Amino acid sequence: MATRRMMMMMLPRRFSSVSSNPLRVCVVGSGPAGFYTAEKMLKRHEAAQVDIIDRLPTPFGLVRSGVAPDHPETKIVVNQFSRVCHHERCSFFGNVTLGSSISLPELRNLYHVVVLAYGAESDRSLSIPGEDLSGIHSARKVVWWYNGHPDCRHLELDLKNTQTVVILGQGNVALDIARILLRPTVELATTDIADHALAALQKTSIRKVYLVGRRGPAQAACTAKELREVLGIKDLYVGISESDLVKTPADEEELKNNRIRRRVCELLSKAATSNQSSPRSDQHELDFVFFRKPDRFLDDGHGHVTAVHLEKTALRGNGSGKQIAVGTGEFQDIECEMVIKSIGYKSVPVEGLPFDHRAGVVPNVRGRVLRDTSGESAIEEGLYVCGWLKRGPTGIIATNLYCAEETVASISEDIDHGVLVPSLPKPGRDGLLQLLDDRNVRVVPFSTWEKIDSEERRLGSLRNKPREKLATWDELLNFCN
Ligand code: NAP
Repeated sequence: MATRRMMMMMLPRRFSSVSSNPLRVCVVGSGPAGFYTAEKMLKRHEAAQVDIIDRLPTPFGLVRSGVAPDHPETKIVVNQFSRVCHHERCSFFGNVTLGSSISLPELRNLYHVVVLAYGAESDRSLSIPGEDLSGIHSARKVVWWYNGHPDCRHLELDLKNTQTVVILGQGNVALDIARILLRPTVELATTDIADHALAALQKTSIRKVYLVGRRGPAQAACTAKELREVLGIKDLYVGISESDLVKTPADEEELKNNRIRRRVCELLSKAATSNQSSPRSDQHELDFVFFRKPDRFLDDGHGHVTAVHLEKTALRGNGSGKQIAVGTGEFQDIECEMVIKSIGYKSVPVEGLPFDHRAGVVPNVRGRVLRDTSGESAIEEGLYVCGWLKRGPTGIIATNLYCAEETVASISEDIDHGVLVPSLPKPGRDGLLQLLDDRNVRVVPFSTWEKIDSEERRLGSLRNKPREKLATWDELLNFCN
């Protein structure tokens, strides 16, 4: 009898959907990582009540603010995410900022499980002289600008007085931006591009865009579909130096097991040989520059960028099978009026969150947050992470599906192994809403988002577009009133 009682005590106390003690889960961030986590938690745990909070009044994170306007098929996933929000055990609360509306310790007191999936809302820096000159922009901000993110509505992007743009980096974000800058605006006019961006692009003087990579064609970070799209822009001259396309044995070795990279190389080779020798005077131009790393930015004497000083690079093996770029001491300038740094996004920590500043991620083991970066530290009970904050800023939307699966599996294991006990009731949603009300935070529920959605579609239909986004904080919050 005593043994049985001991065994009962050792078993984790169960959460129940019918009792007064559901498993209270808060997901911070309503991008793909947040929504996949919420969906999987609801499916896997009948006792889970899931609240999703986001600092914006609008949901869907990167799908709304990151995916290019001319990629509507990628945005279809919002239908699936909307169904998650209609689940009887799920709620969305927009306009709630972790770190200012509510602190992380407060959130953890309110919920049994907190999953941080707020992505990467900052930028890697080059840390080279001149980086603060005007005319130099982060890719994230440019993307937010053309996608109608309210934080970048007023980004000063002087397209009217710019003829040459240098984009640093050759990942898919760089290619998205090059495409938006060079594509005929008549083709963009029927997308959900923000009206202010379309108007600026219609008046642009941009004739030439450089895409600069510190390594070679065999290492270009973009994927074939995105490359094909940019190469296929109507009446565009594409400049690629054939000498850059010569592969070394080390390149061949790298390419051997990488089908995507091989395809990218093939497309670049084809483009290099199929173009006329020089652009016509009325033609837009896209130049791929390989084996160059930014050394510093040059100033026009009035604080505006006038050129990028690049150092030629050579590739060296570093033992990992991946070649790295090293400077050769030879330099070259590319004159331009605008630079866009597309070298990767960066996550930012909130107070009280362990953070690996070097890697730009939250230290974690399969989504379980660790107390520090030592690799041997204890786990922060009830705190999990998913998406770019967990693994760094790489991967497509579907990558977050697998990432969420892993984090939810860890949560489930922790529940099964009693790590989340004692499962005392927590205030959850009621406590959150009470606290936010006490602080006069104007919470935007999913039903209000649906009204914004209808309004944006209505505004869009007037312009023959799928939607016209409300692109300022005032517009969004006034509409919520
Ligand atoms: P990314 O793919 O990691 O590309 C970053 C680029 O910046 C690379 O060319 C990298 O060169 C370069 N870079 C990094 N640090 C540098 C430095 N200090 N100096 C010079 N160059 C530097 O990142 P991303 O383009 O921001 O994209 C993020 C993720 O979103 C990627 O996984 C991407 O595929 C995905 N995405 C997908 C789509 C799509 O599917 N349509 C669209 C947009 C984004 P190295 O290779 O030499 O490091």
